[in-house]
Amino acid sequence: MLGVSVGALRRHDVGAQEEINLRVTPADLPQLGLAGDLQVFGTLTNLGAQGIEAAIGVEGTAQRECARCLAPVTLPVDARVEETYALTGPWPSVVEDTLDVEPLVSEAVLLEEPLRVLCRQDCKGICPTCGKDLNEGPCECRDDEIDPRLERLKEFLGSGEEKRS
Ligand SMILES: [Zn+2]
Ligand SMILES: [Zn+2]
Repeated sequence: MLGVSVGALRRHDVGAQEEINLRVTPADLPQLGLAGDLQVFGTLTNLGAQGIEAAIGVEGTAQRECARCLAPVTLPVDARVEETYALTGPWPSVVEDTLDVEPLVSEAVLLEEPLRVLCRQDCKGICPTCGKDLNEGPCECRDDEIDPRLERLKEFLGSGEEKRS
């Protein structure tokens, strides 16, 4: 929950606006995997009976893993999102003169994140056989790509031999 009080704004005229500025630490929203503090800023607009419109931006960095070699990757976060909070009903709605902007902030952080995070475009990844980081050089394995079915057969035969010896 990231609550923003809108009691004063709701008592203003329709069309009145209020700036928001929050600093979210990685510990505040651990599920987002922030690398550092996130700056949340934006404008709230009183829409009268329609509720409150929130237009927010987020700026910071997120800590991710390379999809191929699992090295830590720090991604820039810089996105804008908008949402209208109704006066009643499920999220997004105003509850006790407070908006919960956490779902909006989460959406913004994940909005421009690539589907596959890579430490670099030509990351060679980890050898599936020996586990060596191939960015550091080639490994001793004979084949770069082993058919996973053959790999399982090899393990099966290998374990059989171990039992016999
Ligand atoms: Zn990588
Ligand atoms: Zn290998």
